[in-house]
Amino acid sequence: MKFNYDDSNVFAKILSKSIPSTNIFENESVLAFKTIEPEYDHHVLVIPKKPYVSYAHFVREADQCEIADFFKSIDEVAKKMKIEDSYKLITNHGKHVGQEVFHFHVHLVRDN
Ligand code: AMP
Repeated sequence: MKFNYDDSNVFAKILSKSIPSTNIFENESVLAFKTIEPEYDHHVLVIPKKPYVSYAHFVREADQCEIADFFKSIDEVAKKMKIEDSYKLITNHGKHVGQEVFHFHVHLVRDN
């Protein structure tokens, strides 16, 4: 399967700072920011800075360090949000399960 990254997607614009975001965490390879349409009391999106379309693209093509850094960063984001004792991770890979933004992201969420 060939992944074609479209750099006009909204998260590419957030990364280039051409549209604003409310950032929670940032390091060399990862950015986390609040969703504009929260479905939970706590709802943050965590993205790699490199251009991957979805989860499958990321795990097939990113190197091991990048993958490890990404998933460790999610726990750092949870600490910043003060929800590290309990949280849920969601990712939509593909349009059939409702992926709307085609830059890989994990929803880090919790109610209350
Ligand atoms: P998904 O359906 O998994 O692709 O999720 C897309 C997410 O991106 C949803 O939570 C949207 O509310 C969020 N979203 C879309 N545009 C923006 C934006 N400009 N800033 C922050 N979050 C956004």
